[in-house]
Amino acid sequence: MFRLIRKRIRRKLRTYLFGAAVLGLLSAPAGAYAASYTVKPTDSLWSIAVQYGTTADKLKQLNGLKSDMLLDGQTLQVPTPSYFTSYNVQAGDTMWIIANRYSIPLNKMIAANKQLANPNVVWQGLTVNIPKRPAGFRDGIFPLKAGTYSPYGNTYADSRSWSPDGETVRSHEGVDIMAAEGTPIYSALGGTIVQSGWSELGGWRLTIKTDSTTEFYYAHMSRYAPNMKKGTVVSKGQLIGYVGSTGYGPEGTKGMFDPHLHFGIYKTSPYASVDPFLFLKWWELG
Ligand SMILES: [Zn+2]
Repeated sequence: MFRLIRKRIRRKLRTYLFGAAVLGLLSAPAGAYAASYTVKPTDSLWSIAVQYGTTADKLKQLNGLKSDMLLDGQTLQVPTPSYFTSYNVQAGDTMWIIANRYSIPLNKMIAANKQLANPNVVWQGLTVNIPKRPAGFRDGIFPLKAGTYSPYGNTYADSRSWSPDGETVRSHEGVDIMAAEGTPIYSALGGTIVQSGWSELGGWRLTIKTDSTTEFYYAHMSRYAPNMKKGTVVSKGQLIGYVGSTGYGPEGTKGMFDPHLHFGIYKTSPYASVDPFLFLKWWELG
């Protein structure tokens, strides 16, 4: 009942906004929509902070919160996420025009603007998100299906201390995405498996060569999909294995940390890791 009324009000409001926009009467305050977030039952301050590339403390500060408690339906002010830039809609803009101007596929523009009641209707002065285009691999797919993993932040270059030779501080060469043990993992792009089997650091892992100078790395799997051995050619979107917590010890070691997918990108000449975060965020938009 309540929902029905709300829907009706929204429809009325939309009709009004349409009319006003057509008459050129309306100029919504900048950022009115882009910067607010409605709390869902599964959210925590931490999970929201991670999604927006900020910290729980900064969110508390921004919202004048005294405790970490959140209420379902509560509205929070949030910053523009690090993987988006914000854009002030100009007169004559439509989502399609903006998408074209910035060479962003329209479906990704719409997915990046879920905070808007209707991303197909924008007006002068409104703030919208524009996804940052990664340097390549723009036709890749996110390796986990929507709804099967937790919000994640950029953990690339964080410090990690486990090594096969004991505790040594090293730089984390990928992004960790927390998901339940057994969650299916799909190949982000097509390629050829160049490494398969146990690694003391990565557990059951796969390295897939995606072009002449790039490898994608998937680690800590509980098990592989069939035939995931060196030399196998995999296609984009193919099931390659399942999330687990393997690694940090001799073959079979598991449970040294919570189950997650560690995803890394390496350039091969010279061999060096690349920050995969922007690629993941781009792929995640579908
Ligand atoms: Zn990791």
